[in-house]
Amino acid sequence: MPFFIRRKFMKLTDKQLKIIEDLGYETPLEFLTHYPFRYEFLYEKDYDKWLSGDTLIFEGQLVSNFATYRFGRNQSRTTFKVLFQDEIVSCTIFNMPFLNTSHYKKGIVVVGTVGDNHGVNVKRVSNKPIETQKGIQPIYSTKTTIKQHEIKRLMYKLLEGLEIKDVIPDNYKEKYKLLDRQTAIRWVHLPKSEEHLKLALRTLKYEEFLLYHLVNGMNAGDLSKGFPKSWDSLKIEDAIKALPYRLTQDQTQALDEILSDLNAKKQMNRLLQGDVGSGKTVVALLSAYANILAGYQTAFMVPTELLLEQHYQSVLKLLPNIKIAVLSSTTENKTELLNQIKMGSFDLILGTHALFQEEVIFHKLGMVIIDEQHRFGVNQRRALIEKGEFVDTLMLSATPIPRSLAASLFFNLDVSNIQSYPAYKKENTTILIEENSIRSILDDLHMRLNTGDQMYVVCPSIDEKERKHVRNVTDIYTQFLQLFPSKKVAKIHSQIPTEEKEQIMHDFSLGLIDILVSTTIIEVGIDVHNANTMVIYNAELFGLATLHQLRGRIGRGESAGVCYLLSNHESKERLEALVSSNDGFELSMMDLKLRGMGDILGSRQSGLPHFILGDLDQDQAILAQAKIDAQEILQENRLYERLIEVAKSIKMMYN
Ligand code: ADP
Ligand code: MG
Repeated sequence: MPFFIRRKFMKLTDKQLKIIEDLGYETPLEFLTHYPFRYEFLYEKDYDKWLSGDTLIFEGQLVSNFATYRFGRNQSRTTFKVLFQDEIVSCTIFNMPFLNTSHYKKGIVVVGTVGDNHGVNVKRVSNKPIETQKGIQPIYSTKTTIKQHEIKRLMYKLLEGLEIKDVIPDNYKEKYKLLDRQTAIRWVHLPKSEEHLKLALRTLKYEEFLLYHLVNGMNAGDLSKGFPKSWDSLKIEDAIKALPYRLTQDQTQALDEILSDLNAKKQMNRLLQGDVGSGKTVVALLSAYANILAGYQTAFMVPTELLLEQHYQSVLKLLPNIKIAVLSSTTENKTELLNQIKMGSFDLILGTHALFQEEVIFHKLGMVIIDEQHRFGVNQRRALIEKGEFVDTLMLSATPIPRSLAASLFFNLDVSNIQSYPAYKKENTTILIEENSIRSILDDLHMRLNTGDQMYVVCPSIDEKERKHVRNVTDIYTQFLQLFPSKKVAKIHSQIPTEEKEQIMHDFSLGLIDILVSTTIIEVGIDVHNANTMVIYNAELFGLATLHQLRGRIGRGESAGVCYLLSNHESKERLEALVSSNDGFELSMMDLKLRGMGDILGSRQSGLPHFILGDLDQDQAILAQAKIDAQEILQENRLYERLIEVAKSIKMMYN
């Protein structure tokens, strides 16, 4: 990274280099962005001002022995007394049975929380000077093998040894009273006061957002140069009339927005968002039809072969008059097909990742549709779009974000929402089970399966090796084979070969499999109408948006679905949001607010950029301002060379 230049020779120990590597950073310089994930505020306070609940630090004399009581397995409680400001303070610490009075002859520093009667529940004790421990203490995310103080010492060394160059242009720095980069990074790791910390965070968040927007802006291109397409709108109306159902009002409006983009003298770049099952496909296909009637090819990209098959069937049904090609890595006679695509023999080319490969050449490609857009990288989407000139782009997403957030996050992106469900869709019931076991619902599951229902079972990991202490597909599969001997049980996860996976999904969709045990790979838009029951183990490990996506798989047929969330008691509150709300927009906002509280598996699936410091919920004002400034910088003739250079070097950071 070009942010830093060495000031003087700085020798890191092998152990320190290993810390950097183990925490996932490539260079010592990069490691400086391993910002604390929280801070502990430790202040001294006079004894007579102590209030129950205060967390504080004090230094005194040890005036008793350490008295340890052991209980349970490997548990212990140790009590001791400390003389502080002429008062004897009773202290209690858990699971520290080996404290030795001889280490505290010169005094003892205690960190803890005041309980009743001025007693203290101790977090830790130390014989190091209180000066080195009080104030604001950064807490870093780490691994069990790496101690907090080792990270702190390393940060200190790096901060001493490295000169850090500024990134934010002076005029913006002055305008918002931001710090220079060197100071900001120093204060974020070694804050002297809360005021310093605030300033440092504000500076680094702004910088992070500004760089993000610059990268985005540089990639956004100029959409004003498109050209209008025109078509026979009666034909669209006929296609709508011929549908086996009536479009919902939201679908109609989204379609109108898309069609007027196609008809306008600019390139479209639109995100069509709506919950799972809200009916985005038909809207996308009708738009594709308009593009085709106008004389252009449409490319429709989906992330899996199964979706390819499903969409292919939909096209045959909904748009019987168009010429369609299907392209995937398993396509036979590919050369011939590619040739025909190039010659313009097809109107619609439906495909997987195969679509953006170099060998694919289109004939008058006018529109690109990308289903489950977050499943593709920025580069992959662009590779496809760049196969035509002034291509209109429509991206479909089932993890909705509010329009205002979209506006401050992206350049040149319009948003259409489908917020209501088609009437056919039944409201699923979601039931929270406060233990990670199906014991209490076993009878219900038997009953549902015996009335012909099919069931999804979702686990957070593949096997014990992948992750300990959570339910895994391998074990649950074995368990279900025993619990449901008369049913056909199958399992899928990412380590099963694609062909086998597709075969299993295919069999499941035909009803040949009753119970499908899997990881979250079933999340992406498949449509099996007879599967109406879902069990999710360790639900606390998933983001709300992911859980909502998952349960959207069921309840697509004749009757409403039931989704059982199995989880420990602690995450009850968060998961209850799912029981009470069926609105993907609302849930994704909640997810944003709660992020970090347990969205371990879900964050990557949201399709939102991942910021180190910036918080998309709390920092929306900085985000929006940084976007305005980035636009200004990109438009100005005066080049902020260094800034652009930095932005270019991190170009793909936000994929
Ligand atoms: P998603 O938005 O998740 O991609 P789909 O486009 O797959 O949803 O639609 C889900 C199901 O709803 C499909 O079976 C589709 O045929 C059906 N559908 C779509 N629109 C309507 C509608 N207006 N009325 C009834 N059913 C609809
Ligand atoms: Mg879909």
